[in-house]
Amino acid sequence: MSELPGLYIHVPFCTRRCPYCDFYSVSALDLIPRYVESLAREAEAAAASGWDKPFETLYIGGGSPSLLNGDGLGGLLKALAPLDISGIKEFTLEANPEDVSAGQAELWAESGVTRLSLGVQTFDERWLGDVLGRCHSVADSLKAIEVLKDGRPYDLSLDLIYGMPAQEPEDWGADLRRAAEAGPAHISTYSLTVEPNTPLARSIASRFVPPPPPQEKVADMFLISPEALGMHGYYRYEVSNFALPGHESQHNLKYWHRQPYLGLGPSAHSFDGRRRWANLPSVRQWSSALASGAAPRAFTEELDEKAVRLEQVMLGLRLPEGISEGLLPESERLEQYINGGFLIKSEGRIRPTEKGLLVADRLAVELTD
Ligand code: SF4
Repeated sequence: MSELPGLYIHVPFCTRRCPYCDFYSVSALDLIPRYVESLAREAEAAAASGWDKPFETLYIGGGSPSLLNGDGLGGLLKALAPLDISGIKEFTLEANPEDVSAGQAELWAESGVTRLSLGVQTFDERWLGDVLGRCHSVADSLKAIEVLKDGRPYDLSLDLIYGMPAQEPEDWGADLRRAAEAGPAHISTYSLTVEPNTPLARSIASRFVPPPPPQEKVADMFLISPEALGMHGYYRYEVSNFALPGHESQHNLKYWHRQPYLGLGPSAHSFDGRRRWANLPSVRQWSSALASGAAPRAFTEELDEKAVRLEQVMLGLRLPEGISEGLLPESERLEQYINGGFLIKSEGRIRPTEKGLLVADRLAVELTD
């Protein structure tokens, strides 16, 4: 994989908040022109501060980038002109099913998008409306998939959520089957996290919505996923991601391989190989900082040796290829995890098993302690 950086753009707009979401987004769409203007400033500042190499991947996420119309998306891409995006090999855009139409699909293809990440979340109405509070129906998702596959050159990826209130492993198996039968190139599977202070957390606290299933049941869902998707040709190439061979997300692989990436837009994160930083999570504060010539940062972290090692282990253990043996010296704890079937040592590498992938973060923390 090349060392060229990836570029992430955060589009912080949604028509309304989903009750489980804790990503930064606002519904004040009248801020879009100010956002695009500030993005141009941020891109210019980034190009002047050393991000002058060609970017290899571009990922527009959110928020809901699919709600941008031709002017919005055209303005956004124009704002990136100070950066070298002429050699982009993979250009992903996140889309909500309700925003997909033949016209939008055409616009995205003409704009150079090669990969569409569709937020289907589930093919079961029982969770889509009451629990997730999404604006789309299952029929909308199926229609969107049909439109996106209609002769356009997209690699299609579907996002799914599991571990939802009262969901059983069989329900999750059925969701996976329906996703695979829709024939995307890539499927992402995320376990539902009930974040404190979200409307979903309040609905659960007031017993309007049942609590999520116990951890063991969620673990079962994680563990049945490779078999359910494997029979359709997908393999797990990262804790939460499955692909048909050759259709892995090149942009996201940069995150896990600790390659540099630049994030622009409110709340976007960046990594230059030695430092990590995040932008202010507010359109107004982020754009005011840029207008005054200041860096719109919420924090910057200089990584010391210990932090680098933890990252190498933590990110490496999210991938079946694992890490080089040299990163973890022999220890009793390592032996325990190997004997317990969480890790395998082979060909100079330490690789997580499926059981190990399930607790990859915990393994990394304990083994680097
Ligand atoms: S569409 Fe996505 S980013 Fe927007 S509120 Fe819903 S979950 Fe959050």
